[in-house]
Amino acid sequence: MTQVIHRTKTRAVKVGPITIGGSDEVIIQSMTMSKTHDVEATVAEIKRLEEAGCQVVRVACPDMRAAEAIPEIKKQINIPLVVDIHFDYKLALKAIEGGADKIRINPGNIGRREKVEAVVNAAKAKGIPIRIGVNAGSLEKRILDKYGYPTADGMVESALHHIKILEDLDFHDIIVSMKASDVRLAIEAYEKASKTFDYPLHLGITESGTLFSGTIKSAAGLGILLNQGIGSTIRISLSADPVEEIKVAKELLKSFGLAANAATLISCPTCGRIEIDLISIANEVEEYIQKINAPLKISVLGCAVNGPGEAKEADIGIAGARGEGLLFRKGKTIRKVPEADMVEELKKEIDKLAAEHEEK
Ligand code: SF4
Repeated sequence: MTQVIHRTKTRAVKVGPITIGGSDEVIIQSMTMSKTHDVEATVAEIKRLEEAGCQVVRVACPDMRAAEAIPEIKKQINIPLVVDIHFDYKLALKAIEGGADKIRINPGNIGRREKVEAVVNAAKAKGIPIRIGVNAGSLEKRILDKYGYPTADGMVESALHHIKILEDLDFHDIIVSMKASDVRLAIEAYEKASKTFDYPLHLGITESGTLFSGTIKSAAGLGILLNQGIGSTIRISLSADPVEEIKVAKELLKSFGLAANAATLISCPTCGRIEIDLISIANEVEEYIQKINAPLKISVLGCAVNGPGEAKEADIGIAGARGEGLLFRKGKTIRKVPEADMVEELKKEIDKLAAEHEEK
């Protein structure tokens, strides 16, 4: 049986200063929902995404107004910009000329060969990659006729068709996505793709749903792939503020040890021994550690019965005791704090540890 091509074995493709593929790093991306021609709104949205930890951002480019906004957007942001185009090669050329760091377009959908060549040559001249986006919902008629309905084999065949067009033009800076809203179909398509070619894979479960259901579907599907070493960049698609997509992606990568500098929260499930308002404390601490760039484990426990002992592995934590909290470090209590000050004290300790980590 053919082996999966692990992400370290994939081709390394540059997107601005970021490299996708060729290492174990999984790059987090998202897509804006503002109208791209509204530069102010798009830039503001990208800034929020940047702050949340988005490493590469994509904007839709449905018309010339959007394509013409690219240079101004580029000037005002700090992360690489991907421009998403369907069919129209003129939009692709305009986006590339305007400074796009990557374009998403399926070469097989562009039309005549001269048009494809024009786009590929422009991308080559600027040294930017092209992402081929295979989507189970929009497979070529020829492939659907052959397989009867969207299948993983059909999706791989579609990817190979687009890849071949680029390879024939000696273009190899390719990233491929194999999206489907059916979780099992997406898993199978990505698995097959990773056994078939070594271009880095952009992971996603498309149209996965709301913050709640989409998070579960994405984590279920993409978790299986990440655990097999498949996927070099990830986009969680949610019907929600895209900042939520970044939070989910970060948490998912943390679960697989793929976020090197991120803090993790351990919080107890609560039970009848609970002594503090644990749920709101855990949520506040979780929000706070989003911005911490250090591999810290922070524990929040409802009582001191098993408290510090239960969380020996945590770097810092708090356990509730009647009306107060025990602040502990590596399983040893360091001091008691009144319940009202607990969260603030914990935040201070987290900052201290993060600073110590930075000095190292
Ligand atoms: Fe219950 Fe305390 Fe364990 Fe939380 S830490 S689950 S409150 S025993």
